Amino acid sequence: MTPQTSRSIVSVKENTLTSRRRNLKAMHRKVSRTAIIFIFAAIIFGMYQEMPAQKKKSKKAPAAKQVKPAAPEISYTVSMSKPATHLLEVEMHVKWQSMPAQIELKMPVWTPGSYLIREYARHVQEFAAAGASGSKLNWRKVNKNTWQIDTGGASEITARYKVYANELTVRTNELNSDHAFWNNGATLMFVKGGLRVPSTVAVKPFGSWKVATGLPPVAGAENTFRASDYDVLYDSPFEVSDFREVNFTVEGKPHRVVFSGDGNYDMKQTAADITKIVEQAYKIFGELPYDDYTFIVNLRGGGGLEHLNSTALQTNRFAFKPAARYKGFLGLVAHEYFHCFNVKRIRPDVLGPFDYENENYTTLLWMAEGGTEYYSNLLLVRAGLITDKEYLAQISSAIQQLQNRPGRFETSLEQASFDAWIKYYRQDENSINNQVSYYDKGELITMMLDLAIREASDGAKSLDDVMRYLYAEFYKKGKNYSRADLQKIAETMAGKSLDDFFTKYVGGTEDVDWQSFFGPLGLTVNVTLPNTGKAYIGADMAEEGGRLTIRSIPAGTPAYDQGLNTGDQIVAVDGYRASQAFLQSYVAERKPGDKVRFTIFRFDVMRDMEFTLGSNDRREYSIQKVAAPVDAQRRLYKQYLNAEF
Ligand SMILES: [Zn+2]
Repeated sequence: MTPQTSRSIVSVKENTLTSRRRNLKAMHRKVSRTAIIFIFAAIIFGMYQEMPAQKKKSKKAPAAKQVKPAAPEISYTVSMSKPATHLLEVEMHVKWQSMPAQIELKMPVWTPGSYLIREYARHVQEFAAAGASGSKLNWRKVNKNTWQIDTGGASEITARYKVYANELTVRTNELNSDHAFWNNGATLMFVKGGLRVPSTVAVKPFGSWKVATGLPPVAGAENTFRASDYDVLYDSPFEVSDFREVNFTVEGKPHRVVFSGDGNYDMKQTAADITKIVEQAYKIFGELPYDDYTFIVNLRGGGGLEHLNSTALQTNRFAFKPAARYKGFLGLVAHEYFHCFNVKRIRPDVLGPFDYENENYTTLLWMAEGGTEYYSNLLLVRAGLITDKEYLAQISSAIQQLQNRPGRFETSLEQASFDAWIKYYRQDENSINNQVSYYDKGELITMMLDLAIREASDGAKSLDDVMRYLYAEFYKKGKNYSRADLQKIAETMAGKSLDDFFTKYVGGTEDVDWQSFFGPLGLTVNVTLPNTGKAYIGADMAEEGGRLTIRSIPAGTPAYDQGLNTGDQIVAVDGYRASQAFLQSYVAERKPGDKVRFTIFRFDVMRDMEFTLGSNDRREYSIQKVAAPVDAQRRLYKQYLNAEF
């Protein structure tokens, strides 16, 4: 389906075609001889019926020679003999009966779930290749991520290289005196055209470190794991360290949480809370689509990355207290866990099988990411890990952020999804003016879709039914879904057209009519301008090392309209030295329309600027319950948030 897949299909086809051509040549020779005999016979017997005989022969001939070349057998060894060097040592062994004279080994340029070209090949060093006897093989780079080796027809080769691993994020690698964490997509090369072949990975841990990964172990081989293909291999990160582990079971399936590092966590409590999250997801789908599941928690860094039967999570080691902070961690867990359904199995169009060498463009990240973020909070409410009030407060804050973002009129959810590769992962000072986040707005719009379905079906259906349908009719049947599929399924559940909804809020940039969605639940969206009439500059500033600098300027603010720039250093206001605290109090004593004189450094030139203060019309949003709900509102509210109105 993706370019990479079609390439593998093409290469198989090419082989088949070549042998077919050979067969045809041989057949042609046979046929010619047969034809002569037949023609001879026909002349003798006055019959001219050799053609059917010929056709029969030509049908038989290829069947006799349908020998497919065996797939390469691939095994890796990953060692870490000197953790302080941050170098993972990789050995890749390729055994292949049909080894070509030149083989190409490729390093992925990105890893699924994190939509940015990361050029993992840049961390490869000390590459070498050898034949079975250990003889050195010549090789060369043919592009940024491809190593071409002259195999000389050897049926076995070994490539050795090191990967510099000194960046702890969920999509990169780190090896140091404390642990090793790596993503296989950033570490292990694949044979060109060979993404559908199985492989094994043997890990040689440093000292007494243990190994955690979602890959199944190979029986009888220590610290050795197998992957059925590269979409599985590249989907399974490794944590190798002195981690602590806690286990629990849901619906007979073993789950484990691996904590790497010290912190203020309570393993038992965390396991109990994660159990509740898993149970709520199970309630939606009626099954857990894996044999076992591993949560890898590194107590440093931040963020998470979803995988088929594992997730990599990173958080501050002291993020487990107080309760409000801990709920943030549980939200991260719920997000990455829910992905094992939404995106890893319920897959938008191009997201799997993957092309590891190019961007994989989809307009559906708003559903994959925003929808997952929506469900992560919903799972927490349903599990009783946050209250309905806390949930609605979060949603209010998300609406407020979106409504104060000028970029909402510039970029739709679909455009934001499509351009993730060049925009979401490459935010700059102008992002607020020309982008929306497919996470944040995606969460809100999937929520509005849910509320629309609940209202239209009078509570009989919800987004849960859409997810279940996608799971049963798409994932279970080996299909990815399109935008049209999603809209059609949502419309079936709602029992009405949602064309207007998708046109305005998914494909378009119209402001959302929030009240129309919240009203049926007995909720009102209150909009206030608490600071209107107060003097206002409108630039986002930060103070660092005694310098007060503008970080970004939302469009439509006085700062934007009067020409302040991102990067401008505010030195003084009306001749007084400007600190952030002083500027705030100085401006607070003035009225909209008052003039001040800014002294700024723009680049390395000092200048003065007359500035007219504006009025702070930043809107605040809060979701409130109506004073006297009708029965239908009470019912929909309870169905939705599992709490009395
Ligand atoms: Zn996500």
